Amino acid sequence: MCVSRPTGEGRGEVRRVAQNGGPATAPIALRSWYCVWCQNHYQGEKYCIACNTGIYSIEEESWRENYT
Ligand SMILES: [Zn+2]
Repeated sequence: MCVSRPTGEGRGEVRRVAQNGGPATAPIALRSWYCVWCQNHYQGEKYCIACNTGIYSIEEESWRENYT
């Protein structure tokens, strides 16, 4: 019988490149939000658990621009 071996041996190392300055568009898994209604900071989905909606939430970046 012919036993076929997986050819995945010796894969190159998967190195994670250090991000110095980072690319303009990085894959962002977690976004930061700020609910202006509850004054609640959170991350992830645009959904404030305090008021059960995301309509009062703005991106924390834009919040910083406007309020700092
Ligand atoms: Zn809220």
